[in-house]
Amino acid sequence: MAYLVGVHPTNLDAWGSQTLIELEEAIRRDPRCLGVGEVGLDFHRAPSQPERARQRRCLEAQLALAARLEVPVSVHLRKGFADFMAIAKRYPGVRYVMHAYAGSAEFARELLAALPAVYFSFAAPAVGSGARRGPTALAAVPHARLLLESDAPYMEHALGPPAALPRLGGRLAEICGIEAGELARIVTRNAEGVFDWQVVSTG
Ligand SMILES: [Zn+2]
Repeated sequence: MAYLVGVHPTNLDAWGSQTLIELEEAIRRDPRCLGVGEVGLDFHRAPSQPERARQRRCLEAQLALAARLEVPVSVHLRKGFADFMAIAKRYPGVRYVMHAYAGSAEFARELLAALPAVYFSFAAPAVGSGARRGPTALAAVPHARLLLESDAPYMEHALGPPAALPRLGGRLAEICGIEAGELARIVTRNAEGVFDWQVVSTG
C-alpha cells in the first residue's frame, strides 16, 4: 500500500505553523508516502473571498513543497479553475494528478498545454451512465495521461467501490474505443510513472 499526505482545501483548520515541516518529514521518512495530496481548491464549499484566498495560499505552499521534493501532487479541484491554473503555472515541473476529474474538455486541453506532466484520473460519476461532460473530457486526454480511481469511500455510485474498478475500467475503455485489457495496462503504466511506484499484481 502507498499513500499521499496533504491538507485538503475543505480541511484548512488543520493547517498550522508546523504543517509543511510535518508533510516534508512524512514524505522523506516513509518510502510508502509517495507525494502530496489531496490538495487544491474547493470554491463550491468556500463562498467567501478570505476563505478562497486561504485555499490559494495553502495550495501554493504545498505545490512549492512538491516541486522542491520532486514528488507528485493529487489535485482536488471544484470550481476555481482559473485560480488553479494561475497557481499551477508557477510550478510547471510538478507531476499533477487531477483527481476525480470533473472539468471540461476545454480545461483539460488548457492544462495539457500549460503543464508538461499533468494526468487526469477519472472516477465513476464522470463516466457512469448518463454522464456527458466526463466522456467528452476523457476523449481530450491522451492515453499516456490517463488514470482511473474509485475515490472510495467518497463516491456514492454503483461503480464507486474499489471492487468495481474493473467495471469502471471497462467503461473507460469503451469510451476510449480500446480493449479493457489495454486500458488496464495503460493506466497501470501511467500510475507507475507518475507516482514513481511499482504496482504489484496479486493475480
Ligand atoms: Zn477530492
